[in-house]
Amino acid sequence: MGDRPLPFALPDIGEEEIAAVATALRSGWVSSGPLVSEFERRFAACCGENVTAVAVHSATAGLHLALEALGVGPGTEVLVPTWTFTAAAEVVVHLGADPVFVDVDPVTLCLDIEAAAAAVTPRTVAVLPVHFAGRVMAGAPLRAFAEAHGLAVVEDAAHAFPAASAGTPVGGGDSAATVFSFYATKPITTGEGGMLVTRDPRIAARARTMRLHGFDRDAFARYRSERPAWQYDIVAAGFKYNLTDPAAALGLVQLRRAGSMRRRRESIAEFYRGAFAELPIDLPAPVPAGDVHAWHIFDVRLRPDAPVDRDGFVAELSRLGIVCSLHFTPLHTLTYWRTRYALTDAGFPVASREFARVVSLPIYSAMTDDHVDLVVRAVSKVLQ
Ligand SMILES: *Cc1c(COP(=O)(O)O)cnc(C)c1O
Repeated sequence: MGDRPLPFALPDIGEEEIAAVATALRSGWVSSGPLVSEFERRFAACCGENVTAVAVHSATAGLHLALEALGVGPGTEVLVPTWTFTAAAEVVVHLGADPVFVDVDPVTLCLDIEAAAAAVTPRTVAVLPVHFAGRVMAGAPLRAFAEAHGLAVVEDAAHAFPAASAGTPVGGGDSAATVFSFYATKPITTGEGGMLVTRDPRIAARARTMRLHGFDRDAFARYRSERPAWQYDIVAAGFKYNLTDPAAALGLVQLRRAGSMRRRRESIAEFYRGAFAELPIDLPAPVPAGDVHAWHIFDVRLRPDAPVDRDGFVAELSRLGIVCSLHFTPLHTLTYWRTRYALTDAGFPVASREFARVVSLPIYSAMTDDHVDLVVRAVSKVLQ
């Protein structure tokens, strides 16, 4: 065992990424320029036909822009699974609307559609499902639910690239918008970054405008246009959410490597599945045939017959040099959401119960076979 602990996550950045960023820096375009446009085009092509991609500096920004473009505002409600990151709920609040928290499915830990249906009110306008861990929530039941209640769907695909359900890549379905994260720990990274993809030209146009202050055209378009660059108009009070060219340069290389990085994570997941089969833990549910799981997170759940509880398991692994994490601390347990909306554990029985026994193990393409072995030996030692 090495002297330093195995981190929970590390970006997979090589010489090619470093060279691409250096080239971008030498080009003179250090804010949003031609590489952002190229990154958008290539990313959209990965999602399917007639998809427009709008690059932003985080998934949080992308979720904010998607909901803004849909008209989410004061007096409206958005359904948000409690099993997600706080970003999803915070952008709803920033728009003056209210998140309504929903329990999750015990197997997938994705939004429970029956619980979501029970939470719909006349004020509900949108639903924000998460493809938890990189497992894709099936499109058909989600679409049927959204259509029955007249809701817009904004998919939080922060974990889910590349991923697909029944042959359709995430981002290529008919949701209003899908948002990806390129944060440091996510399946591909630009340091900080994100992408909003949509098939709706009005959402794309509104997100582009709001991404950069409400300009009628962005800096790169102004630069290329016949009109002088200083001649612009402001058509809305927008945000400063644009991605930069050096980040896009990094993203373009990561995008080319996304498939092979995912396959590496998948092979780690398969190895874990085999190695942990006899241990007193529940493993991620099998992936439906024809689906592509991004394997951003490998979550295990301790059974009652395990020799340690969740916190003991995490502490023992840490002692053996393995850093674990936890996805997610349900939003209904966090002070701000709990007090603002008077939430209780009883309102979210599945998330509350599963949270007490869930752990995320390291799974990333920069792990070596020795790292994977280290995790397997440590987990087996603690649980046997
Ligand atoms: C990471 C994450 C986000 C936020 O992504 P950023 O790019 O850091 O803004 C949103 N939702 C989920 C489920 C995430 O895991």
